[in-house]
Amino acid sequence: MDDLVPVVSYQRASADKARDEHTVTDQSKVNRMTAARLGWRIVHAFTDNDKSAAKEGVIRDGFEAMLRVLRAGRLPDGTLVQGCVVVAEDRLVRRAGDYERFVDAITSRDGRVFADARGSKDLYSEDVESMGLMGAVLSRMEVKKMRRRVTRWHRSRAEDGVIPNGYRPFGWKDDKRTLDPVQSAAIRKAVQEILAGRSLNSIVRGWQERGFVTTRGNAWEAQTLKQLLRNPRLCGWRKINGEIVKDAAGIPVQGQWEAIIAPQEWEAVQAIFDARRGKQVGNNGIIGNLPADFREHTYLLTGILRCGRPKDDGTLCMAKLRVTPHRDCDHHVYACRSRTQGGCGRLARRGDMVDMFVSEAVLATIEEGPMSPPQTEPWAGASDLKDSETQLRELTEHWHRKKVSNSLFFAEVERLESEISRLIKERAQHEATTRRAKANLTDIRRRWYSETDDDRLDVSQKRAVIREAFHAVIVHPVGQGRGSRGTFDPDKLELIWRED
Ligand SMILES: [Zn+2]
Repeated sequence: MDDLVPVVSYQRASADKARDEHTVTDQSKVNRMTAARLGWRIVHAFTDNDKSAAKEGVIRDGFEAMLRVLRAGRLPDGTLVQGCVVVAEDRLVRRAGDYERFVDAITSRDGRVFADARGSKDLYSEDVESMGLMGAVLSRMEVKKMRRRVTRWHRSRAEDGVIPNGYRPFGWKDDKRTLDPVQSAAIRKAVQEILAGRSLNSIVRGWQERGFVTTRGNAWEAQTLKQLLRNPRLCGWRKINGEIVKDAAGIPVQGQWEAIIAPQEWEAVQAIFDARRGKQVGNNGIIGNLPADFREHTYLLTGILRCGRPKDDGTLCMAKLRVTPHRDCDHHVYACRSRTQGGCGRLARRGDMVDMFVSEAVLATIEEGPMSPPQTEPWAGASDLKDSETQLRELTEHWHRKKVSNSLFFAEVERLESEISRLIKERAQHEATTRRAKANLTDIRRRWYSETDDDRLDVSQKRAVIREAFHAVIVHPVGQGRGSRGTFDPDKLELIWRED
């Protein structure tokens, strides 16, 4: 119960609508449902009856009392209040001034929540302007003025590195400053594993097995874990409106809470997520030697095996094999997709044998020695980055003392900033590549085949290793008349190794 966000609800009915579904009682029911759905808890309900919010001179006692509570952040009895729920905005406000006062009151602190029956809304965000009633009632200037004020207040606190209000983030203790030893260690491990090529799904399954839940008591999902790893709070930074909060010299502000990972590690994880988003990473892709395939697969070799059956024109089919369900055998079968799905539909091979054969080929190679020498040289751009950052800081100081002209300053700032962001990106890529190379390959045979050991490799990790060894594995057809589904001939597998 304590994990639920405490909010107040507000309901209002005007006399002429007393008979419709928007009576105070109905609104209160809807508000309770909205709060329950969002994991919030209504600690007090404010009500105004028989009053039109649009009429000048009508004082809404409930509304005014609610604004006082939102500004104070507590009910008169001391109960914490972190947000507000209404059925629809037109219950809340009829006049421009009211809306502004409401937004001012609720955003007077960080981390406040607001929702109507359709869902929650971020009153701190730029989108405030597009909110229905807001646009209809307020003049553009009023909107802009309010938004600037909220943004400025929000930002100035962030620039001081102040700990944001709101519920406790996973990984920290209740003071939101000190690390929770168990949770922060789990996050640190997850970061290492992401950098070593493990998938979000398999990490989430591990967390579920350990009984971890979010601070709001929900089960972890891949999406929520990703949000957590996307949050720069992990390395002591903060993001507002999609941008890292920086000081006047352009250096990220270090928050007043303990960091779980280093900024370089956080940036490396972002580089991986960014690379996964939509685009295929080639052999010489932007994130170096990272495996091209991060999705969770149930089978070891889907997408890696390719069909080697010759087409009519003599070239090979080369379609990626998929696993198809077969009632008549207890092992899985890799098969070429049908013609309508881009394959030839005329090749299949028993999966357990192919998996075993390819696994052994990879293990033998690793046991002979590392596939490629681990890249341990330090990143070559470190001094360049430091120089650029120093230059930017000095330039800014000169400019503040009016020793540099505006035109020179802005031209130079633009050049330095793009240089710095290019170098930071490069550093993140180097970090990711280095981590991958150092990923522990010791004792790999036991970990590869283990079903129970803590350090066993899961399918996504094995696929990453295989991807690093081979471009692809071509499955050639066996002779005519032999049912290929049940047969296995290692000579008919062609391993396409990556170049050294
Ligand atoms: Zn085929």
